[in-house]
Amino acid sequence: MIETKGYAAMSAGQPLEPFSFSRRDLSPNDILVEILYCGICHSDIHQVKNEWGGATFPLVPGHEIVGRVVRGGSSAKRFSVGDAVGIGCFVDSCGTCDSCREGLQQYCTGGLVWTYNSRDRDGNMTQGGYSRMIVIREDYALKIPENLPLETVAPLLCAGITTYSPLRKFNVGAGTRVGVMGLGGLGHMAVKLASRMGADVTVLSHSPKKAADSRNLGATGFVDTHDAAAVARLSETLDVIIDTISAPHDPNLYLGLLKRDGAMVLVGVPESPLAVHAFSLIGRRRTLTASLIGGLPETQELLDFCGRENIGADVEVIAVSEVNKAYERTLSGDVRYRFVIDMKSLD
Ligand code: NAP
Ligand code: ZN
Repeated sequence: MIETKGYAAMSAGQPLEPFSFSRRDLSPNDILVEILYCGICHSDIHQVKNEWGGATFPLVPGHEIVGRVVRGGSSAKRFSVGDAVGIGCFVDSCGTCDSCREGLQQYCTGGLVWTYNSRDRDGNMTQGGYSRMIVIREDYALKIPENLPLETVAPLLCAGITTYSPLRKFNVGAGTRVGVMGLGGLGHMAVKLASRMGADVTVLSHSPKKAADSRNLGATGFVDTHDAAAVARLSETLDVIIDTISAPHDPNLYLGLLKRDGAMVLVGVPESPLAVHAFSLIGRRRTLTASLIGGLPETQELLDFCGRENIGADVEVIAVSEVNKAYERTLSGDVRYRFVIDMKSLD
């Protein structure tokens, strides 16, 4: 076994604390990765608090991982020692179901292995990226554009791909009118990506102080959702809405902003169900749908796109000892726009 250290929640809702544990020895197709940076996703917070149920403890969160290859197994050949790699929300899948064969591993029906809080093939629970070392099958690691600062790449592995995938699915491009609900980690990536694809982007936010930032990120419009008249002025103007809000909210208020045949894509996962009135959809044949991260090929496509277009996340880099404070600040909306942990601070 390979000894490593990280930060874990020892039970639901407890502050994270230093935690030593081991990674499996390398199988022939595995690589050992030294983790350099790991983003803090709101999903980490939901799971540490066990808001979705099913969390097991000790739990080392983290699925926005960038690191360097330290060693390869006997048949590993995709990477060289020293290469920068990315690891996202899953570390293995069955490889044979329809979704895996289509490169949509995130929808694997044969047993997806999440990066943390998941049963690995060897029966042990996986542990995430708030740690120094990780072992992964080489096929599940992504190639990183080396022209971008690595700390700005880490959030692309979840916040980036989770917003890129629905934007691509709904053919967002020049002339598309996109609404982004919630300007946090996912929301700010949605704005950057959609605007770079040529779309006209409006942010719908309950934080009026984010208006100037939203324009710098690429949005042309900003609506404070407390201002009912301003929200109403957007009625039937949007083609696609990406809903990234992490807390319970009323989707009916926003569905009316879609044109006929427009689509709202839920990517945020509040802890309680959203109530949708059929009339919010029927009168204009609107679609309400959802999307989960992205598969390996599309995640690589996103990373290559961001390398070409010089897009990284806006990050605030912290030491791991500041992680509990960063959770509090994320919950209070005080993040511009992703906390990223410098994992060398664990040494
Ligand atoms: P985040 O950085 O905390 O951003 C969430 C944003 O939601 C906030 O910045 C805020 O935006 C808005 N918000 C928060 N509380 C609100 C409230 N009470 N009323 C209205 N708006 C509120 O979180 P994140 O990391 O972007 O994640 C967002 C959600 O996506 C989480 O639920 C996460 O679990 C989920 N997620 C899903 C996937 C997927 O595959 N589908 C992947 C990753 C994350 P404003 O201040 O601008 O209003
Ligand atoms: Zn995430």
